Amino acid sequence: ALVVRHRMRSSGKWGRAVTVVRELDELCGTPIAKLRQVADAMDVEMHVGLASEGGSKLKMLITYVDNLPSGDEKGLFYALDLGGTNFRTLRVQLGGKEKGVVNLESEEVSIPPHLMTGSSHELFDFIAAKLQKFVSAEPEEFHPPPGKQRELGFTFSFPVRQTSISSGTLIKWTKGFNIEDVVGEDVVGELTKSFEKIGLDMRVAALVNDTVGTVARARFSNQDVIAGVILGTGTNAAYVESAHAIPKWQGLLSKSGEMVINMEWGNFCSSHLPLTEYDQDLDLESLNPGEQIFEKIISGMYLGDIVRRVLLKMAEEADFFGDTVPPKLKIPFIIRTPDMSAMHHDTSSDLKVVGIKLKDVLEINNTSLKMRKLVVEVCDIVATRGARLSAAGIFGILKKIGRDTVKAGEKQKSVIALDGGLFEHYAEFRSSLESTLKELLGDEAADTIGLEHSNDGSGIGAALLAASNSQYLGVQES
Ligand code: BGC
Ligand code: MG
Repeated sequence: ALVVRHRMRSSGKWGRAVTVVRELDELCGTPIAKLRQVADAMDVEMHVGLASEGGSKLKMLITYVDNLPSGDEKGLFYALDLGGTNFRTLRVQLGGKEKGVVNLESEEVSIPPHLMTGSSHELFDFIAAKLQKFVSAEPEEFHPPPGKQRELGFTFSFPVRQTSISSGTLIKWTKGFNIEDVVGEDVVGELTKSFEKIGLDMRVAALVNDTVGTVARARFSNQDVIAGVILGTGTNAAYVESAHAIPKWQGLLSKSGEMVINMEWGNFCSSHLPLTEYDQDLDLESLNPGEQIFEKIISGMYLGDIVRRVLLKMAEEADFFGDTVPPKLKIPFIIRTPDMSAMHHDTSSDLKVVGIKLKDVLEINNTSLKMRKLVVEVCDIVATRGARLSAAGIFGILKKIGRDTVKAGEKQKSVIALDGGLFEHYAEFRSSLESTLKELLGDEAADTIGLEHSNDGSGIGAALLAASNSQYLGVQES
């Protein structure tokens, strides 16, 4: 009798853990009808955001990029890519139509965490110093002739209200950054101050969001590109809009009749989004409560922490990992999205990788196969929700610009360029996104839409935009 009672009790606990996962699955559900509602809401908010400043949670920012690279760009340009956990410096040699990107050198530096929440001059001084070091290794053949300045494309992947192609004020920080004294300031001005302090002779020719860089990079090699999406630490999209569809852009002219819009879709929110208690808590405890809700259920900075919160609940309410709650499980962001991805992709029959991750990351030993399977299920639910919502967002953009259906007799191709660690490295996320978009579009329309990985888009794209906004434009290359 004793044995039976014991078994009943443990199956009760197991049952409670399973219930937590079942409830999660239900709340995170993204049936196609719901995704259509999300896409419709995205489409509506896009219109509202384009109509007036501050009208929508979608800022729909004007980027001053009205001429995308033609492929003719030539010369040596620098780029600085700031926006995730790392920042990169790039030296890009462009060779025009025949040669494309002739040479590319880059260096990646991880940003010391204290600089992400310190003061602006500390961050910008640090960046300037790294850039100066990078420039000092410039091969002699590339030295600019006397009187000619080096030019830089600055990829700054935060919401910025641009005042020109090469200036703009920071609206707010996102992701892990929070440096109050820069909010409302011109970020190019701040960076330039740091350049001047150390005598770095460099002109910022273009200030761009990573999504805009991604569009530019992809357009350089493929004229069918109409949008760029980042699925990395954060998430966002930019797309090519026709100038007359931007009512709030009064009196300004676009040479091409087009304008790239930085949507800042990370801040999208809708009652149709499947949100859970875990998302609510994550948001409340974040650096930016109430903001970037779409981002917080999709992007790489957060997915692992949603999984952590679910596992913590299973530990607390169902003794899932034994009688005590593993202390490490209480540490925010301890499960990074790459850990989650590794567990999710574990193909070994005994889920060895899941066991190793639980042990290495959370110091949880001796898990059963049954337990590890449930952990994988949690990863799957959370990643699938994010991927399917990203697809709905892309579908919303296609709707907005009328490319979601095939017009009679027309087979115009539209390409979306994507970049970021989630898209690049999280295979389950990527394939779920791709199949969901197909499902939303239907076979015929899906044939006209291409998704393309734009490698290094944000960095190279910024160099390209520096080239097309060079102050030496039209001056003969020496
Ligand atoms: C930022 C965007 C950026 C995206 C991807 C978001 O948090 O607000 O500007 O494009 O992350 O890096
Ligand atoms: Mg990036």
